[in-house]
Formats: sequence, C-alpha cells, structure tokens
Amino acid sequence: MRFLTPDGPDARAVRIRRRLEAVRADIRVWCRRYGRDPAEVRLLAVSKTFPPADVRAAAEAGQRCFGESYADEALEKQAALAGLRLEWHFIGPLQSNKTRRISACFDWVQSLDREKLAHRLDAQRPEDRPPLNVLIQVNVSGEATKRGVSPEALPALVEQVVALPRLRLRGLMAIPRRTGDFGEQRRAFARLRELAEALRSEDLPLEILSMGMSGDLEAAIAEGSTLVRVGTGIFGPRPAR
Ligand SMILES: *Cc1c(COP(=O)(O)O)cnc(C)c1O
Repeated sequence: MRFLTPDGPDARAVRIRRRLEAVRADIRVWCRRYGRDPAEVRLLAVSKTFPPADVRAAAEAGQRCFGESYADEALEKQAALAGLRLEWHFIGPLQSNKTRRISACFDWVQSLDREKLAHRLDAQRPEDRPPLNVLIQVNVSGEATKRGVSPEALPALVEQVVALPRLRLRGLMAIPRRTGDFGEQRRAFARLRELAEALRSEDLPLEILSMGMSGDLEAAIAEGSTLVRVGTGIFGPRPAR
C-alpha cells in the first residue's frame, strides 16, 4: 500500500535529503563563525540501525561516507548496497571475534583502543585491499566511559599502531561525555586536539580529528574537528534495536 502511506519510502527519502542539506548548511555556518574552511570538515553519515533504503537516499543526495557500529548489521547493509561506491567507517565497540569481518569489509576503523585489536586488524586485513585507515579512540572524559584509551596510555598505543604495516594511523577520535554545556563540550574537544598536536610529526600527520555528533557539532567545529559523525541529524531518531 506504498502509495497510500503518508510517510512512505519516497517521503522519507525526501526528508533525509532535506536534513542532509540542513546539516551541511550548519557546518558551513559554523566553519565561517570559527574561521574554518568547510572543505576541511568531512561529514560521516551514521547509518547504524537504519535500513539500506535510507543509506541509498543519502547516497543519492551526494553522501559518500557512512558510519556503522554493529558488524553483522553493517555487513548485511553493505551487501544490499554493493552497487554503490561508498566508504564505510566502523565506529562501534570492537570485539575480538568480529575483527576479521571488520578488517575485510571496512575502509576505516575509528574505535581502535587496544594493542591486541590493532594486531588482529593488521593481520586480518586482506592482501588485495589497501592498508586499513584507523583512528585511535581516546577517552577524554575520564571515568564517564570505559571505551577509548586513556590520554596517558595514548603515546604507547600510537607507537605500536604505526609499526603495523597493514594499518594506516590517520588521527584520533573521541565521544566525550554527553552534556548540554557548550563550554564543557569545547574543553573535551580541545583536549583531543591538543593530544593530536603533541603527537604530530612530519611522518605522522594525524590530520583527522573525528569529533562532533548531532548534539555537539558546533563545539567540535570550533575546536578543529575534521570529521563529524552525524546520525540523528540526518536520519531522524533511531529505532530501538
Ligand atoms: C551513534 C553514533 C554517532 C551519531 O550520533 P547522533 O547523536 O545520532 O548524531 C556518532 N558517533 C558514534 C561513535 C556513534 O556511535
């Protein structure tokens, strides 16, 4: 009864396109406000829990990079969309028993936070694919989350990751504690930026700062984000899993 549903597939595709355009417009406004070049800020559409049709709608509106948090769901979606040339980022918690599939099917892993997982992803990266782009996830909010390496342990992990030939370390990622306080949002993102600046060298540009989601985009752009991860802002509220 597709044609009788007021919120049918076509209406949804139109809404996704409009929201995507609105997010891009917001990014441009904030870049101007904080003296940033909008070309430096990549938009990752976080499609976890949303169906392949939603990804297709965003892709038809020009979106190329998509983020997923659950390996099995992502692989199904990738298979359904195999004809599109999309770039897939794994942004969810990494589990040892899923690294083989993730290393084979993703272009980027943003949530690397342990040496053991780095070794697995490196060993399991298929030979016919380029090295896997990785970001190290850093816990910039202390106790609030167990995910991400601590700032203190970060330099040692960086050293271990750069030694792995099938991984290419591109930068850092953070999911700070959720807060509506703009100043607190900025301080958490500034922390990540400073950590990257301290580790940066000619051989290790660490040019990617993956920070900012639907609720804290402006603060992230103000602090130098070069990759924002937006789910709700593009696809609407997430259905319960
Ligand atoms: C779900 C998720 C997002 C997107 O969050 P929204 O608030 O929906 O924009 C971004 N990053 C990570 C790591 C996520 O898990």
